[in-house]
Amino acid sequence: MTTTDDFREIAHSGGKITFTFTTGVDDRHRYQINVSSSSPVPVVMIAVYALPQGVPVSSIQLGGIGTPWNPPPFEGCYPVMIQSDSQGQFGHHCPRCDGYWRSGPWPNFCPYCNLRAEGYQFLSKAQLHFTRHYCRVLLDGLKTNEDGKVVIDMDEVADAVDKSSSERPTFYIAEESQQHKYRCLACEEFNDILGRFGYCSLCGTRNDLQEFEGNTVVAIRERINSGAPPQDCIRDAVAAFDTLVAQYGKQLAEQVPLTSRRVTRLTKYSFHELEEIRTIFRDWFDIDLCSGLKETEVSQARLMFYRRHLYEHNGGEVDEKYLEKSGDTSVRLKQVIRETREGVHALLGTLVKMARNLHTGFHELVAIEPGPIKAFEEKKKRIGRVATGTSAS
Ligand SMILES: [Zn+2]
Ligand SMILES: [Zn+2]
Repeated sequence: MTTTDDFREIAHSGGKITFTFTTGVDDRHRYQINVSSSSPVPVVMIAVYALPQGVPVSSIQLGGIGTPWNPPPFEGCYPVMIQSDSQGQFGHHCPRCDGYWRSGPWPNFCPYCNLRAEGYQFLSKAQLHFTRHYCRVLLDGLKTNEDGKVVIDMDEVADAVDKSSSERPTFYIAEESQQHKYRCLACEEFNDILGRFGYCSLCGTRNDLQEFEGNTVVAIRERINSGAPPQDCIRDAVAAFDTLVAQYGKQLAEQVPLTSRRVTRLTKYSFHELEEIRTIFRDWFDIDLCSGLKETEVSQARLMFYRRHLYEHNGGEVDEKYLEKSGDTSVRLKQVIRETREGVHALLGTLVKMARNLHTGFHELVAIEPGPIKAFEEKKKRIGRVATGTSAS
């Protein structure tokens, strides 16, 4: 699933950073930093403390006007101002897996390997490059010991996206759009990641469930309602659930200590039989996929998992293997099974319940960051109150 929007260079938001050097009556050389923007889009600014050679060592909480910054972790650090890209987002790089993504200013997690670290440790290569340039300009200005202004012109940088690399400023910075842009349903954070599935970089919630429930299942329901063959929908629904289980299985294999036999089972084989999936997740991880489900829902889903193979490989005709494994006595050998629209909708409902159980159980083992989720919950409540207040008046 690629779109023309994949891997497009995203310009910097522009503006100018001006260092003003002055000498006080005490003969000490000082500097002031001024950031100005001419961008038509909202610009977000972050700041880090960096060593003189341009190595970031701590995030700065800029706060509002009048709020003092947190102090540097030690003497001799310089504050470096870093602006968002022209879409108000920031590129990030994971020091562990080398992954790249875009999201808001301060991520807590790598979306790919789930590394948890301080925001400044996830600066993108472009931002690190810029940080080195920034410190060089600042230190040169301090060394020359002359009063005056030195400007880093970011507009020049922003305009250079369309130019060839030889025409670009030496400290050129631009970010790159990835493949899947989404807002996390748990905390509302914007994420732009490679591939389709990952951890939310702010709260650490996996997006597989929201993808499955909000996109895959909705699409299959629309297809069946507009007359698609029910057999095809059953096949695709079970296959999508298989993919979902495989994603969580793969992540559990990476995040939870397991024997190599279990890692192999989780990562090398697919999830075709409901009974086996249930047993694995219940016995190894204490996750009950069928918690809260009616027995009829479970047995119907179990049957559909077996039928998927008939629709996939056998044109929907009953074979001996199916009869033997499923124990289905409602059909005979060689019969073509006919599914109903209602049956598809019922199966989708069951799969969503199982997916939710899997997701919840998964995050009991793989920690999330509750702060952003709580903040989003409170925001929704406030908006809800305002909306109710408006309609009442
Ligand atoms: Zn990573
Ligand atoms: Zn989130």
